[in-house]
Amino acid sequence: MKRKYFGTNGIRGIIGELITPDFIIRMGSAIAATMKKGGTVVIGSDARLSSPFIKQAISSSFLASGIELIDVGTVPTPLVQFAVKYLKVDIGIMVTASHNPPQFNGIKVIDNDGIEIDITKQKKIEEIYEKEQTSYTNWEENKVLTSIDLREEYINQILGLVDVELIKSRKLKAVVDAGNAVGGIITPNLLKKIGIKVFTINGHLDGTFPGRGSEPEPKMLIHMSEITKAVQANFAVAHDGDADRAIFGDELGEVHYGDKSIALFEKWILSYQKNKKFVTPVSSSRVVEDIAKEIGGEVVWTPVGCIYVSRKMIQESALLGGEENGGLFYTPHIPVRDGAMATALMAEILAKTGKSLSSLIQELPTYYQQKDKIYCPNNQKERIMHYIVENVEKAVETVTIDGVKLIYEDGWILIRPSGTEPIFRIFTEALTQEKAIERVNKGKKLVEKALKK
Ligand code: MG
Repeated sequence: MKRKYFGTNGIRGIIGELITPDFIIRMGSAIAATMKKGGTVVIGSDARLSSPFIKQAISSSFLASGIELIDVGTVPTPLVQFAVKYLKVDIGIMVTASHNPPQFNGIKVIDNDGIEIDITKQKKIEEIYEKEQTSYTNWEENKVLTSIDLREEYINQILGLVDVELIKSRKLKAVVDAGNAVGGIITPNLLKKIGIKVFTINGHLDGTFPGRGSEPEPKMLIHMSEITKAVQANFAVAHDGDADRAIFGDELGEVHYGDKSIALFEKWILSYQKNKKFVTPVSSSRVVEDIAKEIGGEVVWTPVGCIYVSRKMIQESALLGGEENGGLFYTPHIPVRDGAMATALMAEILAKTGKSLSSLIQELPTYYQQKDKIYCPNNQKERIMHYIVENVEKAVETVTIDGVKLIYEDGWILIRPSGTEPIFRIFTEALTQEKAIERVNKGKKLVEKALKK
């Protein structure tokens, strides 16, 4: 069975279209039906205008199904993931559409280990939903709804994982661009506690994301860069709508995408550790492989998607994982993306090395990337991938963890079928921009040729 509602990160849709109170109540009841009677759920939500109605709708499903509910408030997704483990409950629900525009919302369902539920469990929930195999308890079994504020416990756990005294001694300055989202509730306070002077922009919660949108794209972070230079901050950080990702800017106002920052974390966190495994999706830059060689580590590749990274980290007992979108996974905290944890670790790297962020970035190898897409009917995708694998030049190594990745001496081409649209996405990397563009065209030609066969 193909999943109909769950995507890469939970269920997401447009308010008034997919996401309505009726849909949420039915889906909440289906989730409750997969739980043991008398179980407990932790619930949190982001700051979107639609989050209160979704939270109330799904809460009523759980309470009416005999499930106890603990509300942790308007918080980042990783705080709910922390709360699931901290309170030892059965499931977590985060009401959010992450970086999507304000008209979107949805839910992420979190398992008892703090990681989003796997595809088997998602399919089970959808099956119950479709067959309407839900039932409500009688009044005597209705459970209570309580609220708890775990912001301090969450921040304290992060503080316990970095060298607070060392960071304090450096008297750093940082700019936080919270994007009018829930990251503003945590990151500025966290940084203040490690002695960092904080300048927050877009810090107030506003579900319309008026500041710079909910996606921390480098082109939207011009104000963050300008303020970093104006106040002479050591670094800047921007979160997405649910603050599980962190995009960093250096002291010169330059914003670096995730593939650079995850390589920095890999280098400066894992070089001090015995376990040097770094888990990352096949779409990540070769920089992480170069760093692994430099520090005597190993890269473990996964399909694209944070659930795959988290689950692989557990399987491989890996300490660290990262995604090019600015997601950093740190097992001593929880092996899930966490923007606040990433920010604290960045401050620690700056304090430990005593170097500027721009010079640390400059020490990394440079590659150039290019992205494009090409139309392909959904029913042709499997055949096309087989054709490409069987017909590429012999000198090329192929990896089929997710789509087809053709690996060359100096870069790669990744041809991935979209899970939602009739397209292939083509990602490439090379030592020059021209070569990266040439590779994208080559990838498109490969798909076109296969389509005609
Ligand atoms: Mg997110």
